[in-house]
Amino acid sequence: MNIDRSPILVVEDEPQIRRFVRGALEREGFRVCEASNAASGLAVAAQAHPAVTVLDLGLPDRDGLSFISDLRLWSKAPIVVLSARSGERDKVEALDAGADDYLTKPFGVAELLARVRAALRRSESSSVAQVPVFRFGDVLVDHLSHRIEKAGAEIRLTPIEYRLLAFLIANAGRVLTHRQMLLDVWGSASPEASSYLRVHVGNLRRKIEGDPARPRHILTETGVGYRFAP
Ligand code: CA
Repeated sequence: MNIDRSPILVVEDEPQIRRFVRGALEREGFRVCEASNAASGLAVAAQAHPAVTVLDLGLPDRDGLSFISDLRLWSKAPIVVLSARSGERDKVEALDAGADDYLTKPFGVAELLARVRAALRRSESSSVAQVPVFRFGDVLVDHLSHRIEKAGAEIRLTPIEYRLLAFLIANAGRVLTHRQMLLDVWGSASPEASSYLRVHVGNLRRKIEGDPARPRHILTETGVGYRFAP
């Protein structure tokens, strides 16, 4: 299965959770390396070049955010953070600092594996040339002609909606924070802009989703942002 690939690094100070995560990943055929604090996590990462890092944000020596910014100095490999249920702010800060996804404790094996696999798929596909024509559901997005079709009929997007959709597609599968979306689409993340974001996402959903009230592609990550599911 995944035996010959780069390992998954688990940085977590609680031995029980570390064992749980390690066991789940190993049963799936992943190689796993581990660390119980940020300093040794960075040292292991530098040696083992993990394909994905699973990072607990509450570490004894340094906070998880500084781990993320340090790792991001030289590695683009995905980081999935583990955070406590109360730590919504932590999740947003971690994503803004360069983490790719998060799991809220307590989480199950299926959820953990799904997130790690999704992170791996993204890192593998990002090294492949990006294509200008993208399809999801019954929607076709052609960045060459700037044409969007739904079920074969052209749909018209405003320039903002177009940028928003392009940004979501370019980051498919990833959790994007409000701030990341605002900075990319509007170039600033002022508090007023957050309400525009919700309005434009709503408009975009009405144009591209089959049922905008139950979106299948532009998913809400409550209190955090959005995730695009192709
Ligand atoms: Ca901890």
